[in-house]
Amino acid sequence: MGALLQLQPRIKPILQSSPCKVTTLPTATPLIRDTLMTEIDMFVKLGDGPARNQMYSSLVWTMHLYGLRKVDLGQLIVRLEPKWLSIKAKQIALYSCCPECGQYLYGSDGLIRLLQFEGDTGWHHYGCRCGAYFKKWEGYDSV
Ligand SMILES: [Zn+2]
Repeated sequence: MGALLQLQPRIKPILQSSPCKVTTLPTATPLIRDTLMTEIDMFVKLGDGPARNQMYSSLVWTMHLYGLRKVDLGQLIVRLEPKWLSIKAKQIALYSCCPECGQYLYGSDGLIRLLQFEGDTGWHHYGCRCGAYFKKWEGYDSV
């Protein structure tokens, strides 16, 4: 508390002198979109825990670097939430297989990796090594 009180006189003049600026929101260039998509592709291709951690770290770092909050990657939408990163697929899978190549969804030795799940809605977002990204509703009545 004492240290905070000592810092206040230094911070206050800086805050008062900085003018309020109105700027447009930054948008992702094609190169940034390719970078984000490559980071996600690398996780789907490698498919293990360290690759997942690396993907999330790289996505958060890249989006912070360019001041991005939401990027549309075609098949996916990546959004930087206040406390987490969300990766949501647009395409819906109706059955327990990849809608592009037919690979079975479940099993650790398969080609499909879970990107993210939404605990409140029941949607699970997957990536397949064939290049497809999709979501499937995994409620308690679908097995
Ligand atoms: Zn597939």
